[in-house]
Amino acid sequence: MLPDDTFSVDPAEQRPDKPEEACGVFGVFAPGEPVANLAYFGLFALQHRGQESAGIATFEEGDVIHLHKDMGLVSQVFNETKLKDLPGYLAIGHTRYSTTGSSRVVNAQPALAKSRLGTLALAHNGNLVNTSELRAELAETNHDFITTTDSEAIALAIAEEVNRGNDWVKGAINAFKRCQGAFSLAIGTPDGMIGTRDPNGVRPLVLGTLAQESHDQPLRYVLASETCGLDIIGADYVRDVQPGELVWITENGIESIMWAEQPVRKLCIFEMIYFARPDSVMHDETLYSYRLRIGRQLATESNVDADIVIAVPDSGVPAAIGFSQTSGIPYAEGLIKNRYVGRTFIQPTQGMREAGIRMKLNPLKDVLAGKRVIIVDDSIVRGTTSRKIVRTLRDAGAIEVHMRISSPPVTHPCFYGIDTDSQDHLIAATKSIEEIAKQIEVDSLQYLSWEGMLTATRENPEEFCSACFTGDYPIAIPETIKRSKLMLEKAAK
Ligand code: SF4
Repeated sequence: MLPDDTFSVDPAEQRPDKPEEACGVFGVFAPGEPVANLAYFGLFALQHRGQESAGIATFEEGDVIHLHKDMGLVSQVFNETKLKDLPGYLAIGHTRYSTTGSSRVVNAQPALAKSRLGTLALAHNGNLVNTSELRAELAETNHDFITTTDSEAIALAIAEEVNRGNDWVKGAINAFKRCQGAFSLAIGTPDGMIGTRDPNGVRPLVLGTLAQESHDQPLRYVLASETCGLDIIGADYVRDVQPGELVWITENGIESIMWAEQPVRKLCIFEMIYFARPDSVMHDETLYSYRLRIGRQLATESNVDADIVIAVPDSGVPAAIGFSQTSGIPYAEGLIKNRYVGRTFIQPTQGMREAGIRMKLNPLKDVLAGKRVIIVDDSIVRGTTSRKIVRTLRDAGAIEVHMRISSPPVTHPCFYGIDTDSQDHLIAATKSIEEIAKQIEVDSLQYLSWEGMLTATRENPEEFCSACFTGDYPIAIPETIKRSKLMLEKAAK
């Protein structure tokens, strides 16, 4: 799936034609060592999870905390000088795409909160569904909100619980019990580092260790949204933080506390299909392997006679290769992505857009000319990008274009930290597959079945959230929040 924030003429279409990941979180605890650079590289590996802002908070002995955060990519926000200004042995880092709270630097994370035991720094991936209630409760006890984020509310709730006389662990657990929704957190305190996941474990969080350089060196722990955040700094994967678990990491080692009474695993299936990096490991294999399998399953369900299979790069590549392996139709590169575009604040002029500027994808005409093409993508959200890609392929000489999607139709918005559009903007919520095919101008269109998507995980299908394909939300959503995005259901009432 390719973000299309530069092609469009219609300002409404400037919104990316894809769900946006919410955030990446990172934490490192290494007594006696400077860790800001490790946090920088960890965030660098997690950049795909959020590209609007980045931040790192570091802790020095004696409750001295340093923070730098700003709008932009990790490599734009930090440089050698900025990292030198972040001394300390414990770092909490964050990359953000805003889902709650507007896109302003004040909302960038980590969020800080002061308590009687010192200042805490919190990095959050996910989205609470009871933010208003929590903020209202906190407002009663005289908290000054600096931001509009749910993440700050969690940080203030922990500080409040600590100020009631609890230690960090008890205070954090009490605060987590006041939160509903999705939250994977890395939290720094003057006394140690906390990692936790909500009782459903909607968003991932992994635990790793850095190799000991001598026997008497204490173990140095790392928390990251994905294993790619461990790999980049040479940390070894230890295990996932479990849904409803808190890990408390101090100089004495690591302590695990299951704080949720009834944890029910519901990992976001979209992490597997698209959000997480293909080289990250979930369920003991890289997501590349899962994405190959869903491509194979897609071919089993919806093959069609064609000359080549191509992908929408980069995220459609593993599924396209899998499709090719099962169908026997050769895989080819038909579209080349400009890997250095990233996000630019410089938008093409209207004239450039109308001329069809190809900022991100360029077709290989000699591969495509005269060919019947199967193009594999991981999802269709609004459909605007898909149509442009199809037109690009035809302009390059493709004589047939068959689109295959390695996930089911997205019919419902996400409330757990992924910025999908409201329901009325989801093309599959309002149109049949035949109507979508017509709109995006393909010769045929098929989606992966819901059963096929889940069976390919080789895990218990009950252990995944797939609400954006079914509307079956595992965490109850208050009516007021539902109304903000479930437009069609509201209209039907
Ligand atoms: S609703 Fe969709 S995107 Fe949101 S957590 Fe569930 S599966 Fe993931």
